[in-house]
Amino acid sequence: MHNNYEQARLYTLRQLNLLDTPPSESFDRITRMASQFFNLPIAAVSLTDQDRQWFKSRVGVDHWEIPRFKACCGEVADESELLVIPDLASSATYHDSVLAESGIRFYAGAPLTTQDGYTLGAMCVLGTEPREVTEQEIAVLKDLAAMVMAQIELQHAFGRIDPLTGLPNRSQFGEDLEDLGRDASGELRYALFTEILDVTQTTTLNRVMGPAYLDELIQGAGQGLQQGVGSGVRLYSVGPGQFVHLIPGGNEGEASSEALRIRRELMTQSLAENAATLIRPVVGVAPLRLGEDSPAHVLRTAHSACQDARQGETGVGIYSMAIDASHRRRFALLSGFREALEHPDQLHLVYQPRVTLGDQACRGAEALLRWHHPELGAISPAEFIPLVENTPLARPLTDWVIRTAIAQAVRWYRQGQPICISINISAVNLEEDDFAQRLLSLLDEAELPADCIELELTETALLGHGRAAWIQLERLVEAGIRVAIDDFGTGYSSLAYLQSIPAQVVKIDRSFIHGLDEDARSQTLVKSMIGMAHDLGYHVVAEGVETEPTWRFLERLGCDEFQGFLFAMPMAPDAFEAWLSS
Ligand code: C2E
Ligand code: MG
Ligand code: MG
Repeated sequence: MHNNYEQARLYTLRQLNLLDTPPSESFDRITRMASQFFNLPIAAVSLTDQDRQWFKSRVGVDHWEIPRFKACCGEVADESELLVIPDLASSATYHDSVLAESGIRFYAGAPLTTQDGYTLGAMCVLGTEPREVTEQEIAVLKDLAAMVMAQIELQHAFGRIDPLTGLPNRSQFGEDLEDLGRDASGELRYALFTEILDVTQTTTLNRVMGPAYLDELIQGAGQGLQQGVGSGVRLYSVGPGQFVHLIPGGNEGEASSEALRIRRELMTQSLAENAATLIRPVVGVAPLRLGEDSPAHVLRTAHSACQDARQGETGVGIYSMAIDASHRRRFALLSGFREALEHPDQLHLVYQPRVTLGDQACRGAEALLRWHHPELGAISPAEFIPLVENTPLARPLTDWVIRTAIAQAVRWYRQGQPICISINISAVNLEEDDFAQRLLSLLDEAELPADCIELELTETALLGHGRAAWIQLERLVEAGIRVAIDDFGTGYSSLAYLQSIPAQVVKIDRSFIHGLDEDARSQTLVKSMIGMAHDLGYHVVAEGVETEPTWRFLERLGCDEFQGFLFAMPMAPDAFEAWLSS
């Protein structure tokens, strides 16, 4: 019988992590009281494991455990009822038990039952003389058993309850999800992740109103939310102002209307008296398969949906695998690039020639960075540069490119083929106040003339940065390094304003060059760009020249240099040299 019950009972017992733990005063105190009250030499908190009785606490016995077979406490655990045996010697069941044989005559045990109805063992008293019990003694024994259970549940709850909201916390969520995974493996559920405030709102409120205000706000939200989801649903507090609960699997539409409903309710009832205008709760919805998706995965995906909800209008976000994958890729690229800078064998530069108007000679080349990620393969700089540029990695990135490009320039210079290498730098590099000085001393060490190097910066990079950036540029220009405005025409600046920038070269963005053959409007645009740039004294380079007619057209307009697949792809140094000599 009871087979399932016994299994679940043992599982509960083990989950409590009580078995074979050291004695603790909180239990021993109760055991001592029991022994004193009954005036009996032996009392114990006895837990019924698979085949033994283990004593969490004991008075008057030396051993920690006895076999479960024919142990009175085992019967209490099986029957979940108070058991009194006035005289073991005359009991049909126990007269030949281990206990009776060791001289025990009297036993009384009250069941230790959890709120879920599992009896873990017994609070028991034992004596060496036969004995009767009074009603009052039975009541006291039951009370002591209840005290033991309160102690067990308190200890178990410790570390599983969020002290601020009183709600079960993230560890409890993890345990419950794993339990659910055993009971209903493979079933679909939705996790709803409600976030009361985002990080900036939290910081602002903390700063302006103080932490007590925030605590109160979160408490109120927790209560309101619990009311909103219904008292039968377990709501977890998984972070400051972050709550999660599960709803049954249906379709995504149903899940998202439930999220909308909860959000609406939260906004009206609990946050009403609080500065509702300051607070924007959002709800993220993520599907999960019980028993398959780990708690960490569920929390991550639901929170990711929550982040998406912050960007949207409705305040509700549905987890999207595609968006998540792109976030994860960005993250993987950023951390991968940090490693690449430490093991630069993943990085190399390729060089794309620039061809001059008239004699069609190659006097310059653009250095372009290539990254081979160990798992993800070749990553385009158009993907990773914008990510890296906004992090502290921008500095070591440019440092590596500059050193590598200078080393190459030196090699070509010594071979009697002076090629001016054009290096792309990021706006943030100009904010390093030793940038110019570092670059100049590298050139110095390499004994390379300054005109063997050119720097490319985009319009936005040039304009978005203040006086300090200007000073760096002026220093470089004074030393004889040319500066090119890259991707010219894609920003929003006027030519007149650009004129104040210490730059000598304009590189017309390839989006203007592409399709130039057919499009009369582009032709007019490029024609006036080149005209104006020349009038202002710039040297003009056209990027992305792919066809002969485009090239010829640009030649007629007097464009000074051309770069593009028509002439050559970006190449490794060997291939570049082979191309040069052919
Ligand atoms: P960019 O500086 O405008 O570089 C020119 C880009 O156009 C290169 O892309 C080049 O391969 C591509 N290209 C050249 N000719 C043609 C053509 O005829 N047709 C077409 N469709 N494309 C052409 P790439 O190498 O993928 O680089 C992309 C961007 O990444 C660069 O744009 C630059 O902004 C950035 N980048 C590359 N290397 C570095 C670097 O070392 N440092 C920094 N800060 N940025 C870099
Ligand atoms: Mg460039
Ligand atoms: Mg460009």
